[in-house]
Amino acid sequence: MKIRTRYAPSPTGKMHVGNLRSALYEFLIAKHAGGVFMLRIEDTDQERFVEGATEIIYRTLKQVGLEHDEGPDKDGGFGPYVQSERMKTGIYTKYAKELIDRGEAYYCFCDKERLDSLKTEVVEGKEITIYDKHCLSLSKEEVEANLAAGRPYVIRQNNPSQGTTTFHDELYGDITVENAELDDMILIKSDGYPTYNFANVVDDHTMGITHVVRGNEYLSSSPKYTRLYEAFGWEAPKYVHLPLVTDENHKKLAKRSGHSSFEDLTEQGFLPEAVVNYIALLGWSPEDNREIFSLDELIREFDYHRISKSPAVFDIVKLRWMNGEYIKAMDFDVFYQMAEPYLKKALTKELDLRKIAAMVKTRIEVFPDIVEMVDFFEKLPEYDIAMYTHKKMKTNAQSSLEVLTELLPLLEAQEDYSNDGLYQTLAKYVEDKGVKNGYVMWPVRSAVSGRQTTPAGATEIMEVLGREESLKRIRRGIQLLKAAAGEMEEGHSMEEEHSMED
Ligand code: GLU
Repeated sequence: MKIRTRYAPSPTGKMHVGNLRSALYEFLIAKHAGGVFMLRIEDTDQERFVEGATEIIYRTLKQVGLEHDEGPDKDGGFGPYVQSERMKTGIYTKYAKELIDRGEAYYCFCDKERLDSLKTEVVEGKEITIYDKHCLSLSKEEVEANLAAGRPYVIRQNNPSQGTTTFHDELYGDITVENAELDDMILIKSDGYPTYNFANVVDDHTMGITHVVRGNEYLSSSPKYTRLYEAFGWEAPKYVHLPLVTDENHKKLAKRSGHSSFEDLTEQGFLPEAVVNYIALLGWSPEDNREIFSLDELIREFDYHRISKSPAVFDIVKLRWMNGEYIKAMDFDVFYQMAEPYLKKALTKELDLRKIAAMVKTRIEVFPDIVEMVDFFEKLPEYDIAMYTHKKMKTNAQSSLEVLTELLPLLEAQEDYSNDGLYQTLAKYVEDKGVKNGYVMWPVRSAVSGRQTTPAGATEIMEVLGREESLKRIRRGIQLLKAAAGEMEEGHSMEEEHSMED
């Protein structure tokens, strides 16, 4: 049997993380088995339709590499692949009428007033009305007369009121409900459109779908699906309902979290490959707990039987880490192209941006991190001299002042401001002084960057800054340290004195 899966989105807005996960798992199940991954657009709910949402679906699937084998733009002989177009072929009414002929469905002419008067029940916190099968008792002649008179109607499924129905899910196992609880759900609405549940079943069957993956918000309506498959005498596909994706507080991942959709994530600088990798692990894990997977590797490893039933917590910190791993592994030129806009946002001076890019490549988690990490190259930030004190390096303001003061003439005399040249000078000074490396490097790096953490060491930073700017910053460091030591030089302006006190 050829495995055929489908991603069946309704074009109602952005691509939610949960939807993308369904698409990914459908894709992986198909590709793992050498089967077909199909795209079907479920656009029969006109009220929820959002302009442009179909384009988002195409764009996202393309960006993440989930290429479909069949779909509206790729005919595989099972089309049309858009429900509104399928509807025009009359397929849904044809099958609804087939059910009427089998006594499994019936015309219902009840008007709103009558439906409103039916008694309601509260099931799982929701108020529902169970239709009382009033129209089931209409004679064939009455039905014909009503149709001829053009009375508006819907077609309802005729569910048994006794016994039970069992739905099987690959993860959740058997779910059994009392038939009395099943409403005679509408299959065809009064506007002629099929309901979502009906179109879904007819389409999955007629399009040869073998596996359905979707969010478990659909689990409660699933017994109705069993009823439809039984009514038709069709074999149901295998269903895999996925646990909810939640935020850190175990609430459904909502828009306000700021990262509930694929687009939110890419706008925040996440790479599509990293997002896909992360989403694959939202509920699924391989045997060996490995975490980094390319799409091809996922295809090889994915086994839906290993999906967990517990809610999947969306952990943005973990995704950031993973994204950082993808950035580290990127080809430098590709990385540079993507990093350049962020570098240019922080840096307007003429600096070697490629060199700076190489510094940050292994340190950022998302591209926007670059801006704050490199802005000290543009302008020395205001800093507190407490920074010169480092326990492990055994440095403090006094030792730093000494080091910088002694180094200044050496660096002023130095012409070669390459990383290597500078390093040699500093290393020699370290040796002559008989101290540890950090004792010298820490104050130098602090002075030239004004930052506690930097994407590179002192001499690499100085190479990029150049001779003039490096010396200027070292002099500034000496000046600040001196001022703090109470050795204010003559001619200091009052203004500077004040800002020191701040
Ligand atoms: N059209 C449904 C949605 O977008 C898909 C449900 C299903 O996969 O059956 O939520």
